[in-house]
Amino acid sequence: MEWIICRSVAIGNCASRMGRFGNENAYETAIDSLDNLLKNCPELKEKAGKKIEELVKELSLEAKVEHDVKAVVSQLDPVEKIRKGFQEFKAHFKKEQTLFKALAESQHPKWMIIACSDSRVDPALVLGLGLGEAFIVRNIASLVPPHSKESGHSSGASAIEYAVLHLKVEHIMIVGHSRCGGIKALLGMKEDGSNRFSEYIEDWIAIANNASKTAKAKCSHDSPFEDQWTCCVKESVNVSLWNCMSYPFVKEAVQQKKLALHGAYFDFVNGDFQRWALNYRVDEPESL
Ligand SMILES: [Zn+2]
Repeated sequence: MEWIICRSVAIGNCASRMGRFGNENAYETAIDSLDNLLKNCPELKEKAGKKIEELVKELSLEAKVEHDVKAVVSQLDPVEKIRKGFQEFKAHFKKEQTLFKALAESQHPKWMIIACSDSRVDPALVLGLGLGEAFIVRNIASLVPPHSKESGHSSGASAIEYAVLHLKVEHIMIVGHSRCGGIKALLGMKEDGSNRFSEYIEDWIAIANNASKTAKAKCSHDSPFEDQWTCCVKESVNVSLWNCMSYPFVKEAVQQKKLALHGAYFDFVNGDFQRWALNYRVDEPESL
């Protein structure tokens, strides 16, 4: 028992040092409460000891995972990594001359994919799409701004225009993903904008403001934040799907059944991928 308490104190020291940046008081308060409880109810000491031991194991595992990830990443020289990667590609290039000669002349991708810039969600890698198979746009939180007469410098709008009018892609898929930082920031934004912290990101993610409102309305206050986060990612994909439809050339291609729109959610925590379709139809006029 003494050993267990000593170990918990060691964590306490560590937590205290980190406390300058975290919530130090929460830890101290919990330890004080536990001490008081055990003074009054010493029969609970054994049970408390076991629970503390479990906590120590859990935290040790977390610390080890973080350490292992950092160790793997720091081993790799970034320039050497891409040099090796290209050498592998070059071997593939030499073997697949028929494919690369055809690709050198033109591209005919069937898919346009709009995904997040997050380094963990490369859609071509996840969906097994090779060169020439998908026209891809990536940005913060996989968002599509609505059509606007003021063209400005919209990389997303110009890419959609090129994909639909010139490449004539048959499918556009917008892929949201688990633990998206852009969507987390969106959920943390106050409606009056009083907690703004960045110059560009917040204006960009505000495209999905309605998704944030929907997710907050759908999830009860006591549900875990992760549920609200997941819901908001999926709703933001839906907002972007409808924004896609605001481009006249997209709407026309969908109405003519030359183009299908899909939403998707890539869950890299559980290794899951969900896809859904935007079913858009215009009814025949009927006399009233
Ligand atoms: Zn993201």
